[in-house]
Amino acid sequence: MFNVTRTAPAPASLSKSNGYSGDDVLTQLRKIFHDKCYICEIKDPTSINVEHFHPHKGDVLKKHDWNNLFYVCGRCNNIKLAKYENLLDCTDPTVDVFKALRHIPPHTPYQKTLHIEATNNDPKTQETARLLNEVFNTDSTINKKITGSYLRKKVFHRYNRFLELVNHYYDEELPQETRDDALVRLKVLISKTQEFSAFIRWIAAEDENLNKILAEHFD
Ligand SMILES: [Zn+2]
Repeated sequence: MFNVTRTAPAPASLSKSNGYSGDDVLTQLRKIFHDKCYICEIKDPTSINVEHFHPHKGDVLKKHDWNNLFYVCGRCNNIKLAKYENLLDCTDPTVDVFKALRHIPPHTPYQKTLHIEATNNDPKTQETARLLNEVFNTDSTINKKITGSYLRKKVFHRYNRFLELVNHYYDEELPQETRDDALVRLKVLISKTQEFSAFIRWIAAEDENLNKILAEHFD
């Protein structure tokens, strides 16, 4: 999960109260959320929903409240439903969702499960960790079991890409230019605009040397 800054004011179509997923809403949301699902962090999802962070349950104000609308992939929306109502709000600038949730990538492409750990006992953090673990690991239906496996594989590929660049950066047999280029690319990979950035940042943050080099680039 990554922190989001809601930089734009409420799109005009919301004031008409005849819908909450107009062109202007989706255009702003995709920009603010960097074209990523705020839950699983998949980039450029092929199925996108405008989600009510707090389920509206017919409440018109909540339904059209700009601050309650989040960019989410269809799969995560279907898993969250109205089951999770006490989650960390990634758009709240006082909440550091990265530090609250330790993301551990899979070590192989077909690892059966991956783990997201709450780093404190706060109920919202605990519930958000439960949601994320369900998103990445559920086998409640065959469809979700298969798509969860695809998702973990994608996380692994991103993690593996990061490790390749780390190896290049540290390889003393490589020309300095190649090592410098690897460092530039590592800085890009840890940006929150990138897919699965929370997994990659945790790897960087837990390495004594990489943390020194990269922590200042955690945007
Ligand atoms: Zn998702």
